[in-house]
Amino acid sequence: MEKRQELYAGKAKSVYTTDNDDYVILSFRDDTSAFDGEKIEQLSRKGEVNNKFNAFIMEYLSNAGIPTHFEKLLNANESLVKNMQMIPVECVVRNVASGSLCRRLGVDDGLELNPPVFEFFLKNDALHDPMINEFHIETFGWAKSEDVSTMKQLTFNVNELLSKLFADAGMILVDYKLEFGLFKGDVVLGDEFSPDGCRLWDAETRKKLDKDRFRQGLGGVIEAYEEVARRIGVPL
Ligand code: 5GP
Repeated sequence: MEKRQELYAGKAKSVYTTDNDDYVILSFRDDTSAFDGEKIEQLSRKGEVNNKFNAFIMEYLSNAGIPTHFEKLLNANESLVKNMQMIPVECVVRNVASGSLCRRLGVDDGLELNPPVFEFFLKNDALHDPMINEFHIETFGWAKSEDVSTMKQLTFNVNELLSKLFADAGMILVDYKLEFGLFKGDVVLGDEFSPDGCRLWDAETRKKLDKDRFRQGLGGVIEAYEEVARRIGVPL
């Protein structure tokens, strides 16, 4: 498939059109951002690690019956994906309290959440991704209510699959964010799944192996991503 022009540049990825309207190319850059784009740095190898990590997870989920936009890896930094109409809503599941949940509700970081907590956020940096609920999504027309139910169900299905995948490799999937889109009318998992959009802790030591290392200036960011990749068997 032939790469054409840049359609959109996000904070960490760029999207390019192709000669087929049904497909676009996701290009994973080394740019790393936090706090709605206020902190940005280039981390060497990050684009490649996240592209390959995402390919592995998307294929794993797809093999388990989750519809995803992923088609194939094209090269170190690029993947071919379905051209979806993105739904501007972030779906978050939390198995352990951390991050904004602790700041909002004053609960202890590390508290086990049983059952897991589900939250929606509006994808809008200027508004700092505010928390929303099903009523906002329906009233403002961001998604149809049946598609909201599908997103929620798929996000919980992903939790079962990935909690086990990471647990078997000695890690706790603390929380994660998913984004969905519509492809020919169906709800399909989009964006990426990588340590940029989830929290992963070593099960024994609780060492952070995700983007919190960048947010909190802990160092060893890409080394941690590579360690997670190695443990679950991502070919880097
Ligand atoms: P929190 O609400 O605690 O900041 O984030 C919950 C989970 O969703 C974390 O794993 C975090 O990495 C992910 N997350 C939430 N919003 C975003 C976002 O805008 N970008 C990325 N990359 N991850 C996000």
